Amino acid sequence: MTTAIDRLRDWLAEIADLGDVTHLLEWDQQTMMPARGAAGRAEALATVRRVSHEKFASAQTGKLLEAAGAALDGADPGGDEAALVRVAARRWEKARRVPIELAAARAKAASLGQEAWREARARSDFAAFVPYLERNLELARRYVECFDEFDCPYDVLLDDYEPGMRTATVTALFAQLKSELIPLIGTLSDHRDRVDAACLHGSFPAAQQRELAVAVVRLMGYDPAAWRMDTAVHPFATSFGHQDVRITTRWDESYFPAALFGAMHECGHGLYEAGIDGALQRTPLGHAESLAIHESQSRLWENMVGRGRAFSNVLAPLLARTFGGALAGLDPDTLYRAVNRVAPSFIRVEADEATYGMHIVLRFELEQQLIEGQLSIRELPEAWNARFKEYLGLDVPDDAHGVLQDVHWSSGSIGYFPTYALGNLIAGELWERVHVEHPDLDQHLEAGDLGPLREWLRESIHRHGAKFTMPELLERVVGDSIAVEPFVAYLKRKLSDVYGLRL
Ligand code: ZN
Repeated sequence: MTTAIDRLRDWLAEIADLGDVTHLLEWDQQTMMPARGAAGRAEALATVRRVSHEKFASAQTGKLLEAAGAALDGADPGGDEAALVRVAARRWEKARRVPIELAAARAKAASLGQEAWREARARSDFAAFVPYLERNLELARRYVECFDEFDCPYDVLLDDYEPGMRTATVTALFAQLKSELIPLIGTLSDHRDRVDAACLHGSFPAAQQRELAVAVVRLMGYDPAAWRMDTAVHPFATSFGHQDVRITTRWDESYFPAALFGAMHECGHGLYEAGIDGALQRTPLGHAESLAIHESQSRLWENMVGRGRAFSNVLAPLLARTFGGALAGLDPDTLYRAVNRVAPSFIRVEADEATYGMHIVLRFELEQQLIEGQLSIRELPEAWNARFKEYLGLDVPDDAHGVLQDVHWSSGSIGYFPTYALGNLIAGELWERVHVEHPDLDQHLEAGDLGPLREWLRESIHRHGAKFTMPELLERVVGDSIAVEPFVAYLKRKLSDVYGLRL
């Protein structure tokens, strides 16, 4: 007998498939597509997005949700079926408020914007990017106008990436984070001579870097039968179900950490998608719900494992074997200290763990001014550079190293950035918790045995997909809400060790 839940599930499965098609077109655009494919790709993406939006936002979805909800009466609210109805209903309530032509226009502008950004960034030409950014911002404002139950415009955008999170909460968390990071960065720049990072620079052919990256992600759980790793200007991870995970990285032949830690970062995202319960595939629960939780996974693998003391014992000999030459005798302590050197720099994705948060605070503050109309797009580069000088003490040399560096605004993803820093905070809480449950974790990491950590993350976080909100998940796993203290304590502990200081 076909039940109301089955009918809802079948309907939503087709929408999930359309989502996978969108992700595949986007993956291709960023890895394989020749530049001139951009116009055609924008049309194709807008069409798929429109069909998918039309189907999902329809009255039919509403009817199926209502019937399934009624059939569930009295069922376990913690079960998969109740979660399916709850999550789909929440997303439907948002989707149905957005006109179909607006959803399609945003998809098209995002696709065109990314191509324009790629060229503008390569030539450091902000003026060429202005019309695309203006279009994205105008569409974001129209999107905001579809909702009237939020306290401020930014809340609407933030809620798409971090459901339930509000601007006021982020502002409070970031104020606390800022008050910790600014003096910490200041103290460490007074002691910059204590750490030598020379071993990170040299000549590292891309082919060898790829070999190294593959060796490391395979330790993490990358499975060649279900994953791919390709090259992208702006590295990202995506997946089409848990058996087809795509990660990307980029190769800097004079500095190996960019690709190595980038690959670990994206593999951390990939493990999340790969670890989602098979029973949730092709449902709205089959991908993660909270981008902050997603980022907690990537940052945990990249920084707490990859740049941790224990795993340096694995990385140092691997680097020595792969590159030889000046790295032939690399010892783990030298590597560990080098990769944790704190020094303000221009590019967010290459920032150390202490300055990283300030890159995010800056973007969060500027985005709010943009969406509220307090800052015009033409004034944006100047505002960026002034704030960068204030927070990180550096003069931005050109827009490619400043306002043009990130892909997000080109694709209309305004409200996304805060999730990166929230991810760091969550990673701090998870790192503390996993050490309580696995007191011998560091011995495993030191031996290159990453299985216990991966399995703990899969069991605690990954397998649930979108079943729980970020606060629900944190409550289950660490018994607390999102907080700044564990991350700051972790950071000070590590940097005290690296610098031989008491921070
Ligand atoms: Zn990430």
